Amino acid sequence: LGGLIILGNIINGREISNNIKDEIREYVKNEKFKVPKIVSILVGNDGGSIYYQNYQEKSSRDLGIDFEKIILDETTDEKILEDIILKLNNDDNVGGIMLLLPLPKHIDEKRITNLISYKKDLDCLSDVSIGRFYKGEKSFIPCTPYSVITLLKRSNVELLGKHVVIIGRSNIVGKPLIQMFLNENSTVTVCHSKTNNLKEITKCADILVVAIGKPKFIDDSYVKEDAIVIDVGTSNVDGQITGDVDFDKVVFKASMISKVPGGVGALTTVLLFKNLCEGLK
Ligand code: NAP
Repeated sequence: LGGLIILGNIINGREISNNIKDEIREYVKNEKFKVPKIVSILVGNDGGSIYYQNYQEKSSRDLGIDFEKIILDETTDEKILEDIILKLNNDDNVGGIMLLLPLPKHIDEKRITNLISYKKDLDCLSDVSIGRFYKGEKSFIPCTPYSVITLLKRSNVELLGKHVVIIGRSNIVGKPLIQMFLNENSTVTVCHSKTNNLKEITKCADILVVAIGKPKFIDDSYVKEDAIVIDVGTSNVDGQITGDVDFDKVVFKASMISKVPGGVGALTTVLLFKNLCEGLK
């Protein structure tokens, strides 16, 4: 094929995302289920947050889910934000509250995020949501780790009994992944920047998940033959989103591998809406 190599072992996040979108559209259309609306709150004018809120809106409209934007001035009083969140907590038409972070400096971010009811905390931000998640009680699931598990499951990867090595122990990726893989009866090892002999450990992994934020850090010398590799990293290198895995080297050693972009990141927003549809069943 004119030098073009087509590899069958690439986990296609975009295709999986499109399948989940189709399932959500079907679900939303079904009159048996009344999918509540999402309210997204932006305080101030952080460029990234404005972009993300517009993206949320576009995605929800595309899926047929009601979406309301609340945009508050940078100087908004904390009490006003508090009242809005408490009102939304008690509104039965609202299924999910998303608060864009960071908040302006004069607002106590921790106190405000903790006001969001765990029943509507789609991003799993509050201490109650996080506590419930780790105790295995009903809570929404943090979307980035949920995306990792979904990529694997939808690629028919058996997780039970597998040795999973996670590199990275952040609160938003590494730590929740430990819990989620344990729930799947995997055996989990976690590595971080102070880990000795990193390579020896990663080479024992049946499934290697990399979430460190160091572009192309993991090459084939870190990977066991036929391992499955999931790359969470998204660093900006000369304007290109680049993963933590040196894909061109690892793709020939791994039995399955996700790409950046088009892997984990392709699923995170759609899983937010899946969370909404599933509610806290
Ligand atoms: P983070 O909070 O900076 O955590 C990085 C973790 O990697 C830390 O636990 C750190 O260890 C560890 N680490 C750093 N250098 C290391 C090294 N040389 N060897 C071993 N471990 C090392 O990052 P994060 O928020 O988890 O994000 C990680 C990456 O995922 C970033 O590129 C981020 O942009 C990306 N991300 C992508 C998505 C998505 O939707 N695709 C979502 C979230 C994050 P210590 O704990 O010892 O410092």
